[in-house]
Amino acid sequence: MDIGGLETMVANTAYVSARGELGPTSGRDRRFRARLKLPHINHCEHLKDSLDLDFDYICVRQPIGKKLFQQFLEETDEFRPSAGLWSDMENYSRVDESERPPNSQQTINKYFDSASKEFCSFLEEKAIMRVKEDAKHGHIDLFKESEQHLLKFLEQEAFGKYKESLYFCRFLQFKWLESQHVSEDWFLDFRVLGKGGFGEVCACQMRATGKMYANKRLNKKRLKKRQGYEGAIMEQRILAKVHSRFIVTLAYAFQTKHDLCLVMTLMNGGDLRYHIYNVDENNPGFEESRAIFYTAQIICGLEHLHQNRIVYRDLKPENVLLDDAGHVRISDLGLATEIPEGQEKTKGFAGTPGFMAPEMLKGEEYDSSVDYFTLGVTLFEMIAAKGPFRSRGEKIENKEVTRRILHDPPLYTEKFSAECKSCCEGLLAKDPAKRLVFKNNTCNELKSHILFKKMNWSRLEAGLLDPPFVPDPKVVYAKDISDVGAFSTVKGVVLEDADKAFYEEFSTGNVPIPWQEEMVEMGIFEELNVWGPKGSVPQDLDR
Ligand code: ADP
Ligand code: MG
Ligand code: MG
Repeated sequence: MDIGGLETMVANTAYVSARGELGPTSGRDRRFRARLKLPHINHCEHLKDSLDLDFDYICVRQPIGKKLFQQFLEETDEFRPSAGLWSDMENYSRVDESERPPNSQQTINKYFDSASKEFCSFLEEKAIMRVKEDAKHGHIDLFKESEQHLLKFLEQEAFGKYKESLYFCRFLQFKWLESQHVSEDWFLDFRVLGKGGFGEVCACQMRATGKMYANKRLNKKRLKKRQGYEGAIMEQRILAKVHSRFIVTLAYAFQTKHDLCLVMTLMNGGDLRYHIYNVDENNPGFEESRAIFYTAQIICGLEHLHQNRIVYRDLKPENVLLDDAGHVRISDLGLATEIPEGQEKTKGFAGTPGFMAPEMLKGEEYDSSVDYFTLGVTLFEMIAAKGPFRSRGEKIENKEVTRRILHDPPLYTEKFSAECKSCCEGLLAKDPAKRLVFKNNTCNELKSHILFKKMNWSRLEAGLLDPPFVPDPKVVYAKDISDVGAFSTVKGVVLEDADKAFYEEFSTGNVPIPWQEEMVEMGIFEELNVWGPKGSVPQDLDR
């Protein structure tokens, strides 16, 4: 074995063993874990004035906020039934389809029946009737309307009391801890996973919790030299803003001496391009059912971006990554842009040759429709193992690729079923007005295309469908370290005060929702949220 091969083997072994460690506390570094401590309440009371005290954000969307609010409800006589109903409704969305009717019946008997002592009288009469009638069908959104009533009731009746309670004080303690930014030394780096335009992406482990992440480094000097600031801040802002299981999540943004760092969801399974071409080199491309699954997950990610007015612009197999279970997420949002409120379109040339939509190539204004063209190219490539406008390795000028995109219809081989061809044609329509796109704030038209006739979208969106392919946990789906390639040093760039101000702006620290998810998932929340005997006030909350 050569030195490069040996280096890769050693790095892979360390990385595979770190991510394979079992148990919630393994992989933790005790010294760093000890630094995660709740302060005395007197140190965090002031946070009340600076926090966004929106009910939905505090009690529903933030994981720790929600847990503490639910704990408050369970401990308060008048709200205990609503806590039970809330938890029942959440369970309902997770049970198997066949289990739903009996499961919902229990909930109905307990909370929807005026004779029950846990009856929730805030539920409106009409909604109660409808739920009772529809229960036998087992639709996923059976309780949707009731949930709205529940949340409205909790906001009006419970939220005020919660804010006066010790549970809310505990929430402030966690918000204080969350606001203590972590830095480079909190992360242990593992092997390189890939190479980006401005630096490497490494697997890393948060030392205090043991959670594995990917760390995308952007070299400061390289960014400055190649005018990458705008893209970097866009990527950071957009990643921090979106929360979807179909898009990589940003958990931390900080700086080191040489780099800006984005710490994100670790996607262990490699990218789609690797799977299309490199896993089985004699038989590239995917079976149709596998391509449909990935395409459906990508559609959910795009829908979320477009609902947030974000145009992605760089969809391609290489930017879609697999996790341990085989689910995919969109990554690399460095070319994404936001359409400002009140505006319908944007302009600018951004993307990858062979993928860009005709309207963009013509220099016209465009909207999210360009992302459905790139989706068409991606779906085509998953099936054909070549692009619709350019074969793999074909040496042609960008001008010729552009000409083909503008004028040539793609050639569909016998690998395409009629349904798949029809979907590609809908997505690859040269005129965006005729394309299958995001409309009326959803992708419903595309989702109901015949290619997806067997897709159970609500289960897919809840993460409940089994992926068609599960990556082998012992395999590292990335190039050998020596093939990733090194960077040359950047010369002749001097960093000034304005640059430093920009790095400060970028380094926003811990991102609230993912940080809280990590604390819950890794057991830290449970360990810190200690109450002592019933009725007593814990020392750290005693003012
Ligand atoms: P760039 O914007 O510079 O192209 P990318 O975000 O595409 O950088 O990252 C470069 C490479 O690093 C990717 O092609 C992929 O191989 C790897 N990579 C990026 N993000 C992740 C992640 N979250 N998990 C695992 N690998 C990743
Ligand atoms: Mg990339
Ligand atoms: Mg990028």
